[in-house]
Order: sequence, then structure tokens, then C-alpha cells
Amino acid sequence: MPIATINPSTGETLQTFDSLTQSELEDKLERAANTFRTYRITSFAEREALMFRAAEILESDKSRLARLMTIEMGKPIKGAKQEVEKCALVCRYYAETAKRHLADQMVETSATKSYVHFQPLGPVLAVMPWNFPFWQVFRFAAPALMAGNVGLLKHASNVPQCALAIEEIFQQAGFPDGAFQTLLIGSDLVESVLKDRRVAAATLTGSEPAGRSVASIAGKQIKKTVLELGGSDPFIVMPSAKMDEAVTTAVKARTINSGQSCIAAKRFIVSTDVYPEFERRFVEAMKALRVGDPLKHSTDIGPLATEQILKDVESQVKTSVAAGAHLLCGGNRLERAGNFYEPTVLANIPADSPASCEEVFGPVAMLFRARTIDDAIELANGTNFGLAAAAWTTDPTEQSRFIEELEVGCVFINRMVASDPRLPFGGTKNSGYGRELGEFGIREFVNIKTVWIDEQPTGENDQTE
Ligand code: NAP
Repeated sequence: MPIATINPSTGETLQTFDSLTQSELEDKLERAANTFRTYRITSFAEREALMFRAAEILESDKSRLARLMTIEMGKPIKGAKQEVEKCALVCRYYAETAKRHLADQMVETSATKSYVHFQPLGPVLAVMPWNFPFWQVFRFAAPALMAGNVGLLKHASNVPQCALAIEEIFQQAGFPDGAFQTLLIGSDLVESVLKDRRVAAATLTGSEPAGRSVASIAGKQIKKTVLELGGSDPFIVMPSAKMDEAVTTAVKARTINSGQSCIAAKRFIVSTDVYPEFERRFVEAMKALRVGDPLKHSTDIGPLATEQILKDVESQVKTSVAAGAHLLCGGNRLERAGNFYEPTVLANIPADSPASCEEVFGPVAMLFRARTIDDAIELANGTNFGLAAAAWTTDPTEQSRFIEELEVGCVFINRMVASDPRLPFGGTKNSGYGRELGEFGIREFVNIKTVWIDEQPTGENDQTE
């Protein structure tokens, strides 16, 4: 894939970038390793001041940064501005909490003193996707830098200007040269970076094949990885659900970021008792969405980020309809320049069709009927993904069953799924492993060191390993 800014609203190539040469890449890796030696021993207070400054820069430059995202990957501008604000929030969250999350933890044993001590690992490679081109990076970078690691960003090839802007933000905030660097490289060079002895660990947010590749290369090197992969999240509606809120939220949850979100609700599993009403109101609301210029504040759905994504969505819908799925609305690309696709709803979806078992990365909703809560849970768990789920019910027994039985990393009751800096975020099954955000996120890329001190040694030792 070329490293280039191609406006998805017009198809016009605005700027192309050369990949780093081997010697440029080598310089950056060496700089990361050198910076880590001194950055790792900076105090939390020093890092905190820099991270607060990064938040201020994000806020003061919000309009320009949001526009950059919209031009490069087509995100509606309203969402792009919210994304920049959320990046500032995560910077502030970790600036305020890193010291507490990584404080020594005293543990009572037979030692005079024993405790857990957290230390940074080193340069961490972050392979990131284009769909939330700022947020995905900041939710890695803020905890990683606050923990004393340094970051190397390999961003998606279609958002190079976002990648460079993020590097600039950390530089302007005063982080030392080499604490956060963007590597303009294609995915073909990821293997050599992962194998480099100076790179300590890696995180990847992206598709399943990319995750498998990075995890297996890193595994051979015995390097820690975190994987945030795809999802086909269920959105379950039970008879007691508040229907107005459920329908409005369902539309938002499916069409956030023009349908290109890992945690977008993709499969709507609705109790047969309320199915007819839900279907009618949901389809009406999907048809009413405004598709068009993502730079306009009134736009609900912009173009898909690349022509390939548009082709993939078109093909998944066509194949599913040919297999017997009913098309309730949409189903076509718009007859205009750019990668625009109509909001689409499918029902009666055959179990083995793409709409049922693959992740559809566009504004396409799939409706399913469930006769009972057991049916709903079985359908919800019936994919290889396990990222997140939303369930709408006011019945406490049903709520407990969804919390216990859904095979996902996050369950939201009567609310759409969204990440929050204060809570861990991540998936199970083929949606990946490890967690970002919250206290768990900042502990992913640290050495959890056990310390045992005996002031009056007895010579008696445990004989088991
Ligand atoms: P992608 O094709 O996997 O790309 C993601 C990143 O991985 C890009 O930087 C890409 O570089 C790189 N990459 C691709 N193939 C690679 C390989 N074999 N080895 C190393 N790096 C590789 O995914 P995408 O299309 O950009 O993003 C959409 C996917 O991300 C969806 O499945 C979505 O659900 C998932 N996602 C998950 C989360 C989460 O938190 N769980 C969040 C957002 C998105 P190039 O651009 O140069 O190919």
C-alpha cells in the first residue's frame, strides 16, 4: 500500500510520502534506544508536566487536527473534533494517575519487606489503524510514555499526515527527541523492526491477519504483545428495553465513524416480542441519515476510508443477499465521486453468509430475531470475535445473565459500547488479548518486578521453584 493522503471524498491523491530508507530507520531505532536510557529515569512529575502540555496542544489545535483526519480518512468533522478532545482527556487521565497506578505495592510475606515494583520495558512498537487515527495512538502513547517507555509508531499507510502530526505534538510538548517517533514505513518492514533487539514489545490495533502476523513474529522473539483486533459486536434488545432510547442508540452504535469502528454494534439481536417495532423504527432512522461531505457539521455518514473498504462492503452485502438475506434499505454505493455507501439494513441472514460471520466495516446493520434470552446469548456468542456487547433490558436477572455469559471483553447494559480512559478496554477470542486504558492498560508494558528484602537472613529457603 503506498504511503499517501488520498481524499476518500474525492479519490484525489493529495500527497505521497517515501518510506524511510534502511539507514533512516536505523537512526530512529538507535535514537529510541538512546533516549530510553535517560527517559526511563525521569520522574513522574517531569512526565506529568509534558503530558499535560500535550493535552493543551491537542485542545488548542483541535480544528486543524480534526480537519486533517477528515481529509485523510473521511471521518465526519463533528466526530473528528470529539476524537481530539478524547485524546486530550486520556493524556490528562494518565498524567494524573500514572504515579498511583505504578506505585510500589507492599505485600506481606515472611520477608522483612517485600513488594512489587514496576519498571518500563523500553522502545515499544505501535502498529495502528486509520479508523480513529488519533485516538488509537494516544490511548497507547499516553500510558506508555507515562510509564517511562518510548514509542515507535507505524501508522496505517493512508494516514501519514496524522502520524506526523502526532509526533510533532509530543515534540512540541517537550518530550525528549526520540521519546515518540513516527516511522513512515509499509507493513513489509514491520517484521524487521519487531526483530530488532532494541525493540522491547509491540501493540497492534487492526485486523485479525495483521494481528496474527505481528504476534507470531514477536512470539518467536519472546516479546510481549497486546492485540486489539476486529469485532462483530452484538446489540441485544429484550422486551423490557426502553424502545426510544434503544433505537436511537442502535443507529448511533452502528454508524459511528461511518460504520468503521471495531466496537460498532454490528449484529442487532432482537426479542421476537419487540422485533417488528424495532425493525420498522430502526430502518426508518437508518434511511433518514445524511450521507455526504464529511467536512459539513450536519453530515452523519462520510465516505469509507479507502476504495478497497468500499469494494469489500459492497461484496459482503451482495454475497449475503445472493445467499438469501433480505435487504431492508440501502445496499448500494452512491453514484458520485468518493467512497460513499448507503446506510444498509439486512435481515433473515443465512448463518454462513459474510454478513453473519465476518466483520462488516461500513454502515451495514444485520438484524436477527431471538425467541428467548438463551437464543440471544447463543447468537451473540456465535462468532469468533469477542470484543464487546451491548444489552438493553431493565430486568436485573437478564442483566446478570448477559454480564456473566457474553463472551466479550466489555459488556454495556442500556448503553452503547465506548471506551473510557478510566476503564480497561480490550477483547477475548479472535478480538485479541491484553488491555488498554485504566490501571490495567498502563501495566501492560512494564516489568512487574518482585522485590524481597531480608534484613536478618536465616538461611532457610523455600525449596520449590
Ligand atoms: P489492518 O489492515 O490490519 O491495518 C492496521 C495496521 O496494521 C496498519 O498500520 C497496517 O499497515 C498494519 N498491517 C497490516 N498488515 C500487516 C502485517 N501483515 N504485518 C504488520 N502490520 C500490518 O487494519 P485496518 O483495515 O487499518 O483497520 C481495521 C481493523 O482494525 C478492523 O478489523 C477493526 O475492527 C480493527 N480495529 C480494532 C480495534 C480494537 O481496539 N480492537 C480498534 C480499531 C480498529 P498498512 O496500512 O501499511 O497496511
